[in-house]
Amino acid sequence: MPTTLPMPRRGLAWKRGFACRCPNCGKGHLYKSYLKLVDRCEECGEQLGHIRADDFPAYLTIAIVGHVVVGLMLLMVQFDVSTAVGLTTCLALTIGMSLWLLPRIKGLVAAHLWRLKIPSGSVEAEDFARQ
Ligand SMILES: [Zn+2]
Repeated sequence: MPTTLPMPRRGLAWKRGFACRCPNCGKGHLYKSYLKLVDRCEECGEQLGHIRADDFPAYLTIAIVGHVVVGLMLLMVQFDVSTAVGLTTCLALTIGMSLWLLPRIKGLVAAHLWRLKIPSGSVEAEDFARQ
């Protein structure tokens, strides 16, 4: 049963999305699996399953992880760290950061799209995509 809540401020909606929570109430879970959005929030009933973030969260995650890992690699070169230690550290950091960040970034993007009330799957969205 959907409940009527006031629209949260942009920063609060982003914070709730980054925490993988419903951007509307902040209590319900945002995902039913690793990156699959729930159809409706189990707490407030807000529809969330129609939000399509597409590849943007992956691009943001790659950009953030890339800057951190490349910066670390430059430091390792500067301090003459061995290749084995450098590769192991950077590989583990890349995988770990990507797996941790991707659902949070997707939650943030989904919260932003939810707040903008972009009509996914509607005629207007299809017309916009064709342009
Ligand atoms: Zn909710």
